[in-house]
Amino acid sequence: MIDFAGKVELSKNETSQRAFGRSTRSVHGEIDGRRANANHALITPIVQTATYTFDDTADVRAFMDAKMWGGLPGREEYGRYGNPTVQAVEARIAALENGGAAMLFPSGMSAVTQVLLSILPTGSQVIFTDDCYKKTRQFCNIFLARLGIESVAVPMGDYEALEAAIQPNTRLIISESPTNPYLRVADLNRLAAIAGKHQRIKTIIDATFATPINQRPLDFGIDLVVHSATKYLSGHNDIMAGVAVGEAGLIHALRQSQGVLGGITDPHAAYLLERGLKTLELRVTRQNQTAQAVAEALEAHPKVERVWYPGLASHPDHEVARQQMSGFGGVVSFEIAPIENEDVLDTTSRFIDAMKIPYIAPSLGGVESLIEQPSLMSYYELSTEERLNIGMKDNLVRFAIGIEDTADILFDIEQALAQI
Ligand SMILES: *Cc1c(COP(=O)(O)O)cnc(C)c1O
Repeated sequence: MIDFAGKVELSKNETSQRAFGRSTRSVHGEIDGRRANANHALITPIVQTATYTFDDTADVRAFMDAKMWGGLPGREEYGRYGNPTVQAVEARIAALENGGAAMLFPSGMSAVTQVLLSILPTGSQVIFTDDCYKKTRQFCNIFLARLGIESVAVPMGDYEALEAAIQPNTRLIISESPTNPYLRVADLNRLAAIAGKHQRIKTIIDATFATPINQRPLDFGIDLVVHSATKYLSGHNDIMAGVAVGEAGLIHALRQSQGVLGGITDPHAAYLLERGLKTLELRVTRQNQTAQAVAEALEAHPKVERVWYPGLASHPDHEVARQQMSGFGGVVSFEIAPIENEDVLDTTSRFIDAMKIPYIAPSLGGVESLIEQPSLMSYYELSTEERLNIGMKDNLVRFAIGIEDTADILFDIEQALAQI
């Protein structure tokens, strides 16, 4: 209990039952008893080793016997099967997502591909939403197809089409939420309910854009959350990593395949990810605030034709987003209004070139603001017409907001728009 003077008085029950907030979890993960590292170091040590030693043959035998029943706590065998630094970060992310367990991967794409390869048997079918990360779609259409796994795309937000696409061999529904670059938000309750009618269908949400600060899909009955930890979770544009979070049994099964598939995270990258995680809540809160202010300013600006941000009432998924998210994220997409006698692709490039704070770069979620024109980045190889066919407009800008001062970013946008 907190009284009005801010004094906290706890009943015995409250001490043991209190669920910690996101910032506390960002720094500590679950706080369950003693938290001492080797040598009493406050910070998680980087255990930089490829293998682990045994004292004698009896020690080997004890380990091998225990392995059959789930292993010995604090005891590892070989780097591909486990690393204490990596495990510390996994526990932190599981606590943030309200998941039973988490598993790190060397990149977001590695998380997606290893999870799909592990879950989907030959002859099965996976349904994904059409606004899904481009490389995830490519993996489904090219690599899974080779293994006799069928992929079906359904329009994002069309739940009737989703139900209609379900076949007896459907094993997985995968979607992003929010999506890139239009920030469409999946109705997680509805998605889980549709899959829940079928015993063998699992649901996966790529929640990279949301972070566990703004949205926790597992709370809505989604089976597995994946992230590109390269983005917000690490937050400093300095490492590549991915993560999958879910119920402990499911993660345990995925871990068995990781030992075979071999995509594991280097302990040094894991250390940097943990360091980034400590400020996740602070960063995301600032990014949410700035993005909302930017979206509102852009929507009111005559040189901007349309803004895509789930925090705006004009966004098609605003209501769903309001119900299931506590913040709307740090990415704002918008369309520059065409001007007479100039190709809008060029007008948009002139705006981007006039921005001073953001770097021009792919990616998002770091402390530095990044800006890009998707037509000239991920979709450069396509013609304007082909791009339009897949809904990618030449006047679209994706602005991934960093942690710079809100007023400075607003000023920068204003001055850049004034130049076109
Ligand atoms: C970046 C990204 C990925 C891929 O992650 P990498 O870490 O770059 O491999 C997957 N999904 C989404 C939504 C992303 O933004």
